Amino acid sequence: MNFSINEDLAMIIKTVKDFVDSEVDLVAQQIEEENRIPSQIIETAKDMGLFGLSIPEEYGGTGLDMVGKCMVFEQLGRTSNGFTTFIGAHNGIGTVGIVEMGNEAQKRKYLPDLAAGNRFGAFALTEPGAGSDASNLGTTAVLKEDKYILNGTKHFITNATDATVFTVMAATDKSKKAKGITSFIVEKDFPGFKIGTVERKMGLRGSHTAEIIFEDCEVPVENLLGQEGQGYVNALKILANGRAGLAARNLGSMQKLLELSVQYAQQRAQFGKSIASFQAIQHMLADMEVDIQATRALTYKVAWMVDQGMKIIKDAAVVKYFASEAYGRVADKALQIFGGMGYMKDFPIERYYRDARITRIYEGTSEIQKNIISAQLLKEYELI
Ligand SMILES: Cc1cc2nc3c(=O)[nH]c(=O)nc-3n(C[C@H](O)[C@H](O)[C@H](O)COP(=O)(O)OP(=O)(O)OC[C@H]3O[C@@H](n4cnc5c(N)ncnc54)[C@H](O)[C@@H]3O)c2cc1C
Repeated sequence: MNFSINEDLAMIIKTVKDFVDSEVDLVAQQIEEENRIPSQIIETAKDMGLFGLSIPEEYGGTGLDMVGKCMVFEQLGRTSNGFTTFIGAHNGIGTVGIVEMGNEAQKRKYLPDLAAGNRFGAFALTEPGAGSDASNLGTTAVLKEDKYILNGTKHFITNATDATVFTVMAATDKSKKAKGITSFIVEKDFPGFKIGTVERKMGLRGSHTAEIIFEDCEVPVENLLGQEGQGYVNALKILANGRAGLAARNLGSMQKLLELSVQYAQQRAQFGKSIASFQAIQHMLADMEVDIQATRALTYKVAWMVDQGMKIIKDAAVVKYFASEAYGRVADKALQIFGGMGYMKDFPIERYYRDARITRIYEGTSEIQKNIISAQLLKEYELI
């Protein structure tokens, strides 16, 4: 594995870090209070090409490979996780399906606008009755002449209120269960598409999560994404591809928490000395560093595997599971080091603490990642 980076990528990473640390972080508290990302931040992100991270250059994107993309995500992870989730979901689950499974006409139609940030992308798999059991979809798609007619409800969809292009999974043949699921590109303007309840969440302020309702929603036949019956496999591939990216975002947040914790521990004095001089605090910092180093190694290993075209089902689940649990541990230690101040909204620690919690749930819970890892392991050992 070779993670040496060329000058262009080094420049991109530096520019993103500067943008995050000197512009986005300044408004992180505002995002928290207003539950809205200021438009000037979105505009700058567009100018920097941050909406085209997964999209090849020929369609207007940055054409970064997975290692490069994770390096950018790591920098984005340093600040408001609501902002990072908005950008991350667009670049990950919101656009990867069209890049990987779309035909040439679909790519030409949708990718340039998605890359420019003129349109935002989202991914709609989860339903009230189909969460971890994502193949048990109630949403149906029935072919009538030149249109599929979709009926059903999706919920917990990130970017639903901001996106206009959705990768949607629906059952074209319920009797075939997972093999009867098909994916579609659905536009917000299609007749029968409606946004339902917008959720009130524990964290991720600025990232909006909502219900989508399809009532005889008309999807032109040319918006079939891939083959009929391949939708569940497509969904799993899109999710697996995104797992290193989510881990990279967690990594950036963990790194930021460590920096804030070291700084605070050195400044805060109790019993006549800085709390950094207490071994109890030093050990917490050491544990944080260990979790960060392990997450970094796993993240870039899996990103590299994606770039090599290797099979990543097990490793992607390993990195998603580890990085989410590690982020929770690191946020918890940071809060402990900050003491009472960590619990107050004057410092960003409590925000990271709340935002870390979702990473063990969305894009597949920790329990589901462990199911994937063990199922793959058992398969491997069967072959020996
Ligand atoms: C903020 C947010 C954003 C989201 N964004 C999106 C999005 O953009 N697109 C999208 O499609 N979905 C999205 N989701 C949905 C998310 O992926 C699901 O919430 C997640 O997969 C879990 O499903 P569930 O909430 O229905 O929990 P459930 O499946 O009901 O799980 C409840 C508990 O049971 C456990 N459990 C379930 N089955 C098993 C099993 N077989 N073995 C062991 N334990 C099990 C789970 O691990 C969990 O602890 C989002 C969710 C949230 C909260």
